[in-house]
Amino acid sequence: MRIADDRVVSIHYTLTNDAGETLDSSEGRDPLAYLHGHGNLIAGLEAELAGRVAGDKLDVRVEPRDGYGEVDPSLVQEVPRSAFGEASDIRVGMRFQAQSQRGPQVVVVTAVSNESIRVDGNHPLAGQHLHFAVEITEVRAATDEELAHGHVHGAGGHHH
Ligand code: ZN
Repeated sequence: MRIADDRVVSIHYTLTNDAGETLDSSEGRDPLAYLHGHGNLIAGLEAELAGRVAGDKLDVRVEPRDGYGEVDPSLVQEVPRSAFGEASDIRVGMRFQAQSQRGPQVVVVTAVSNESIRVDGNHPLAGQHLHFAVEITEVRAATDEELAHGHVHGAGGHHH
């Protein structure tokens, strides 16, 4: 069975960046199962998987625009320390939930001074090329319930 819309696809994958560092991997875990054609996978990877069959192995390089997007400078902001209230031990790398024009957003602290805190709302992988080494382990038809929910049930998928 070939990968097409409304099929459930299981893959093992390893994600690395341009520097060859491993960012994520299914190694040692169940394969990742996703419902093809429903926006559950990064667009640039999903497009390359279409038409493949179980057993295929491929390397996919995804441009930022087909991955987590380009870095948006407007999401980097200097916030007065007073906005953090009484919190005194704010450090680089801490994450906060912030309110933005697009709704709740996770920001990470990237710089701290006596007067202000710089926060970045970009996804950590924004602006990066993504390299996926993928092995397709299974392709099957989705159940009616999975199609109605828009995601996979059972091993490697959602449970409810
Ligand atoms: Zn469901």
